[in-house]
Amino acid sequence: MNEVEQLRKIIGESNNIVFFGGAGVSTESGIPDFRSVDGLYHQKYDYPPETILSHTFYRRKPEEFFRFYKDKMLCLSAKPNVAHRKLAEWEKEGKLKAVITQNIDGLHQAAGSKEVLELHGSVLRNYCEDCGAFYDAEYVLHADGVPRCEKCGGPVKPDVVLYEEGLNQETLDKAVRYIREADVLIVGGTSLVVYPAAGLIDYYRGNKLILINKTPTARDQMADLVVTGSIGEIFSQL
Ligand SMILES: [Zn+2]
Repeated sequence: MNEVEQLRKIIGESNNIVFFGGAGVSTESGIPDFRSVDGLYHQKYDYPPETILSHTFYRRKPEEFFRFYKDKMLCLSAKPNVAHRKLAEWEKEGKLKAVITQNIDGLHQAAGSKEVLELHGSVLRNYCEDCGAFYDAEYVLHADGVPRCEKCGGPVKPDVVLYEEGLNQETLDKAVRYIREADVLIVGGTSLVVYPAAGLIDYYRGNKLILINKTPTARDQMADLVVTGSIGEIFSQL
């Protein structure tokens, strides 16, 4: 049996699968990984993405923050890909318990997934910092410069976790619970070097840890099955 056949067999036999996904799941829907800095950034922005997407920067230079954010983080025309759809299907069939994601694009929900733990929040939710009013992503995208609340004029902040900001503890606790109780843990589209991915998978206690990634990850040694390839390529064979 090759790796994909082994994976197919493991999935077929389980009804307690948890999927943990990183940027690689979204890039195949055309959403760029902001961490992969290309020449464009250097021409258009004076700071690296990690600086722009920090809490300090958001406070000090909101205009510049939103210029980058609207340009690089809001890809509202992106559609779910085969991996998103397959995971939603498994949940409906009662095989998959939860999707834990580091992505902020809402594509798992768009594909029909119900139990989605968004560790880094979502661009689809935005709140006035003063009165708490909700705004959708379109509102932020079309705002002139820094989005302002229609009701009170306060700044509207995307519900995404910026650098220097802590993760939502409730979401994190839930993710730990799902991972700890999972029969099969599939980790895809992440090289497992960025916090909290690396730490979270240590909670897994089973013997079916599956890593799907294009390139080797920091945890290949501890995996029970390593499947090399893009998420889309592998999921389309399942
Ligand atoms: Zn307000």
